[in-house]
Amino acid sequence: MKRKIRKIAITGGTHGNELTGVFLINKFKNNPKLVKRDSFKTILMHANPKAIKKCTRYIDKDLNRSFAKKDLFNTEVYQYEDILAKTINVKLGPRGAKKTNVDFIIDLHSTTSNMGLSIVIDNNSKLTWQAAAYLKEKVPKINIFRWRGDLEDASFVNSITKDGFAIEVGAVPQGVLRADLFFETEKLISHILDFFEKSNCGKLKRKYKEIDIYDHIKLLDFPRDKKNNITAMIHPNLQDNDYTKIQKNDPLFITLEGKIISYDEEKDVYALFVNEAAYYEKGFAMCLAEKKSIKL
Ligand SMILES: [Zn+2]
Repeated sequence: MKRKIRKIAITGGTHGNELTGVFLINKFKNNPKLVKRDSFKTILMHANPKAIKKCTRYIDKDLNRSFAKKDLFNTEVYQYEDILAKTINVKLGPRGAKKTNVDFIIDLHSTTSNMGLSIVIDNNSKLTWQAAAYLKEKVPKINIFRWRGDLEDASFVNSITKDGFAIEVGAVPQGVLRADLFFETEKLISHILDFFEKSNCGKLKRKYKEIDIYDHIKLLDFPRDKKNNITAMIHPNLQDNDYTKIQKNDPLFITLEGKIISYDEEKDVYALFVNEAAYYEKGFAMCLAEKKSIKL
């Protein structure tokens, strides 16, 4: 792992109503020393300024699904976030270039699900996973989630660069700031910056060999009727219980009339992003994942 990190980017407000990231970027812009390290540069960016101003997730479409290669190189798309994605891609990337303008992107999100401090990774890049393992050692309560996505090609902001990940913190309602998670996220960022500083200066104590993760299996939608209306809610046992084990016959949903709909597969799974507000429009009630240890 001899790769030298020259520049990293911290992006917040990719979703304009996720205030943890928006306000952390504000804080860092006012106190640049907090993100300054000697061996690399840190760039701070409010990713979706229009959406931040309106305190809405996006203007026309989800910015964090707008960085797939086919969209970045499509000159026929004109929605606000399509154009914004291309601008951000030029500033931080461009995606696919041998030498991108920044080496690593940390994209800050919050979720209405009770995910605590989670790192969401959608690449197999060595440096990213070493950084995640370092964070897990420093802050053992964080959870690492390997996302395999709702789209074919990686389309997150952090997929512009080979290395990077998203931080998801919750439960935070949309448009709300929570002090506890704000400070915990700040601390996490500080650890990541320390990791790069140590990595650049050859001061990392060890190379991590394995890591415990939650590995994406599938996205699960709400039960719906023929007209596509949702007919059941997340069961109270599962609500606010992200990262707990679900076994066959455990309740997943409860209909408006009170009928329980249970998990009916043999394989034990873990539910993440349970009842995330922003996923109603995407047609997901939760992500199902398996818990495993992977070699790095
Ligand atoms: Zn988000």
